[in-house]
Amino acid sequence: MKKDILSMTMEELTEEIVSLGLPKYRAGQIYRWLHKVGVQDFSEMTDLSLQLRNTLNDNFVIFSCNIEKKLISEYDSTVKYLFSLHDGEFVESVVMKYKYGYTVCVSSQVGCRMGCKFCASTLAGVVRNLYPSEILSQIYAAERDLGVRISHVVMMGMGEPLDNYENVLRFLRLISDDYGKNISMRHISLSTCGIVPKIYELAQLDLQLTLSVSLHAPNNEIRSAMMPVNRKWPVETLIEACRSYTEKTSRRISFEYALVAGQNDSPVCAKQLASLLHGMLCHINLIPVNEVRETGCRESSPADVKRFSDILSAKGYAVTVRRKLGSDINAACGQLRRNTIKNNQNRPENKEQS
Ligand code: SAH
Repeated sequence: MKKDILSMTMEELTEEIVSLGLPKYRAGQIYRWLHKVGVQDFSEMTDLSLQLRNTLNDNFVIFSCNIEKKLISEYDSTVKYLFSLHDGEFVESVVMKYKYGYTVCVSSQVGCRMGCKFCASTLAGVVRNLYPSEILSQIYAAERDLGVRISHVVMMGMGEPLDNYENVLRFLRLISDDYGKNISMRHISLSTCGIVPKIYELAQLDLQLTLSVSLHAPNNEIRSAMMPVNRKWPVETLIEACRSYTEKTSRRISFEYALVAGQNDSPVCAKQLASLLHGMLCHINLIPVNEVRETGCRESSPADVKRFSDILSAKGYAVTVRRKLGSDINAACGQLRRNTIKNNQNRPENKEQS
C-alpha cells in the first residue's frame, strides 16, 4: 500500500524520507512542491532526480482532485467544481470572490449521514470520510485551475466536519502550516450541525478559527423536524456547549439560520431565537433556504426575511442576511454531485464548462 503523502506533516514526511535512506533536506523540498506549489504528480517535482521521483512514486501516492465539471456563475463569477477522487467518488467545492480575497468552500465527506431535511448532500447518506489530503487538494486544484491565491476557507461543503474529526483537525494543521499555504486560522470557518461532544473537544484546542453552528430553529419541536441530529443533542444541550465554547475560546460563534417559508420564519421564532441566544458572544447569519427539489422546502419571502432580521437587530444582535452567490450553478453543496450521479450511473464522460 502506497502511503498518503499529502496527509503527512513536515515531521512525519521527514521521518519517512530518512527511513528511505535519503537526506533530511529532501523532505523540505518535497513538502514545498506538495503544499506550496500543489503538484498533482511526482513528475512535476522538476528539481529532483528521476531516480528520486521514481522512489517517491513507488512508496507514496498524492491524492489529488480531478476536475470533472466546472460551472461559472454568470452573475457573480462564483465557480463550482465537481471533483473526482482516486476511487471514482465525487465531491463539490465552491470558490467565491469577495472584496478581501478568494474564499473556498470545501467538503469534508462524500455525502453526509446527518439527514437534515432541507439539504441535498445528505439525501443518499454518507459514502466515506475524506482524508486530510483530499480536503487540501480541493484547494490546491482550485488555485491551480484559476491561477489565484485562496486566502479564506470555509468548511461548509458536503459532509459534517465534526463527524470526520481527526482528519479535519489534521487538515486544519496542514493548511495553516507555514511550510504550506499558511492560511491563518482566523481566515477559516468550520460549520457543524451540532455534534456536541466534539464542540467541547474543539474548545479545548483553543483554535482561532470561527465556529459556525447550523441552528436553523429556536426550539426542539421545529429543530428535530428539520435536523435529526437534534434528537440526540437537543437545543438546550447544544446552546450550553456553544456558551462554553465562547467562554473557553473568547471567539464568537456564528449561528446559521436557513429560513424556510412557514417552518421557522415567523416573528415568534425570531423572538424565541433572541431569548435562546441571550447574552452570548455571537453573530446570526440568516440564509433564505436554497430550494432543492427533493426536499420540498420553500424559501421565505424577502418581506419575511426582513421582518425576522429586524426583530433580531432590534434586540441588539449582529445579523446578516447571506448574499446568494452562484444560484444559477447549483452552488448549494450536494446538488451537483447528486445530479451527476443520477444522470450518469458511472463516471460522467462530459467535461463541461459553462
Ligand atoms: N454539516 C455542516 C456543514 C455543511 S452545510 C453543517 O451542518 O453545518 C453548510 C451550511 O449550509 C449549513 O448551515 C447547512 O445547514 C446549510 N444548508 C444545507 N442545505 C441548505 C439549503 N438547501 N439551503 C440553505 N442552507 C443549507
